[in-house]
Amino acid sequence: MQSGWAGLGEQLASRLRKLDLHRQEDLVVHLPLRYEDETRLTPIGVARAGFPAQIEGEVTSCEVVLRPRRQLVARVRDDSGTLVARWINFYPSQQKQLAVGRRVRLFGEVRGGFFGDEMVHPRVRNIDPGEGLPEALTPVYPTTAGLGQTTLRKLIDRALKTVPLQDLLPEDARRALDLPGFAEALTALHHPAPDADPIALENREHPAWRRIKFEELLVQQLSLRRAYNARRAREAVVLPARQQLTAGLVRGLPFALTSAQQRAVGEIAADLGAAHPMQRLLQGDVGSGKTIVAALAMLQAAENGWQAALMAPTEILAEQHYKKLAAWLEPLGVGIAWLSGSRRKREREAELARLQSGEVLLAVGTHALIEDEVALPRLALAIIDEQHRFGVRQRLALREKGAHGLRPHMLMMSATPIPRTLAMTHYADLDVSVLDELPPGRTPIRTKLVSDARREEVVGRVRDACLQGRQAYWVCPLIEESEALQLQTALDTYAALSEALPELRVGLVHGRLKADEKSATMAAFSAGELQVLVATTVIEVGVDVPNASLMVIEHAERFGLAQLHQLRGRVGRGTAESVCILLFAQPLSENGRARLKVIYEHTDGFAIAREDLQLRGPGEFVGARQSGVPLLRYADLELDAGLIEPARALAERMLRDAPAQADALMQRWLGGRESLLRA
Ligand code: ADP
Ligand code: MG
Repeated sequence: MQSGWAGLGEQLASRLRKLDLHRQEDLVVHLPLRYEDETRLTPIGVARAGFPAQIEGEVTSCEVVLRPRRQLVARVRDDSGTLVARWINFYPSQQKQLAVGRRVRLFGEVRGGFFGDEMVHPRVRNIDPGEGLPEALTPVYPTTAGLGQTTLRKLIDRALKTVPLQDLLPEDARRALDLPGFAEALTALHHPAPDADPIALENREHPAWRRIKFEELLVQQLSLRRAYNARRAREAVVLPARQQLTAGLVRGLPFALTSAQQRAVGEIAADLGAAHPMQRLLQGDVGSGKTIVAALAMLQAAENGWQAALMAPTEILAEQHYKKLAAWLEPLGVGIAWLSGSRRKREREAELARLQSGEVLLAVGTHALIEDEVALPRLALAIIDEQHRFGVRQRLALREKGAHGLRPHMLMMSATPIPRTLAMTHYADLDVSVLDELPPGRTPIRTKLVSDARREEVVGRVRDACLQGRQAYWVCPLIEESEALQLQTALDTYAALSEALPELRVGLVHGRLKADEKSATMAAFSAGELQVLVATTVIEVGVDVPNASLMVIEHAERFGLAQLHQLRGRVGRGTAESVCILLFAQPLSENGRARLKVIYEHTDGFAIAREDLQLRGPGEFVGARQSGVPLLRYADLELDAGLIEPARALAERMLRDAPAQADALMQRWLGGRESLLRA
């Protein structure tokens, strides 16, 4: 990106860029993290340990001490007492500032030290006799190493004078929401009035903050709505619902679609029949039955003579999808190709040829689908299962395979539900279908938290369950730092369980196995030939073995919430009562405890996602999908939820009635950056 920092010196410019500040306009909306009260002085004798204070006095000594380590130690005296100030890192210029006899103001937190009250690394300012105190709170900005508050403050103050700060909100909307003007809000935040309420400022509840947060949410809605509209202006293959193959599939199913499934199928069918590309997210908790919805969409493409592809993140899942789809489609006489790393070269080449010629219209696969030599000349629908497991690039690569360079319709599927506030903000450019109902006949899963010390007992439960004809998963601990260690742990666990359970057949799957070994083990477990499956998180997504009713997760405290929910969703798929045992090691970190509590208390994926969002914040939550959507810096999805709906409504209105103002707003907040948003 072009930097607007000509004339500032490369070092300063690069530090500003590090803060994502590229133009004067960015400085204007670089807002304080908090404020310091330098409007008052505290007499040294009154300053209390544990509180920030500003003191003023005369330097009575200043020296570099070498023990216990090199440091600068100064003493400052006022009428009420003496205070020690120390710096571990210091510059020669500081020694000058602190020359004996100089008057200084120190701002910092007072602590009880070895030599009495002291401040460590306080801020120092030299004071001329009679110099007054600032009248307003002093802003403290987010910054980076090597860029001091004073420099940043000066740059921001200068930007506030040069950048036009006209109000870009329609006046009636501003009034209706009772928001202050833009310039007024910025002044209130950068230079709070002497009587401003410091608590409201710090908690970001001040009306000025509301104005800024609203504008930020509005800009996000504008950019997402604009992307949405741009997509609707593009052409796609029209795939009307002919109800030929699809009706045949529904008739042949051993179950009836839930009403949530019917609704999603209807929404997707309508999108496919339109002349612009669908961009839809099918969201449904683990086990809610997304696969059949995908199959029906694929058949709608096929019954129009066009191709559809379904991409899944793991070999195991792709194969399972293939088998399920093939079984559903065979009676209808519809062929389906399967591409994955596990297929032999000859088979693979034959599949590629049949897809290339259009003899086969449907394809299932892993990333193998997006390889260059895969040609899908009539691709009109691309489906991505467990979409959060793919990066933007991979999703785009599949999209690029669209017939004649036309964009295929896209259906993304995810079992990681998106809390409503997040859906309304970061995902506002997608249409969403929700499966909010599980197929009937599922018994709820019971979750137990068990300390590691009781492993033996847990092994006993596995034995009992399997001897009663059930099957069990045993999930090995996640070891993020080392794949080798993770593998070793899996091998050890496998050996230990095989020994402890001689009467049972135990299998092992992990990421390092060859694809056909993995697939043979999964098939054996699926067929009931193996009773216990020791696994790493390769089984996290999608695996569907209804007879498995017990899951043990070791070191559950190391897993993320979404992952635990996904893993737990591997059981509870049949009619037997299922149990998920979360083994944890003591001592638990506070965060680990919080996560286990959430997963113990909730079985609903939406509730878990909401808690996860709370624990992690939207940055990390959304980060997994590497979205490119601008993150919110100031607005808080929980606290400011009430502003989202008005922002959305106003965004639509402005795009329609005041596009130039909408542009100016996006320019103000995003600069050129919206071009980086979802392509
Ligand atoms: P997920 O949404 O997690 O991908 P799946 O598509 O794997 O769920 O479905 C889970 C299981 O439920 C599968 O065995 C599937 O065949 C079955 N299923 C799907 N829809 C229904 C339904 N309406 N009634 C009964 N079982 C269903
Ligand atoms: Mg699935």
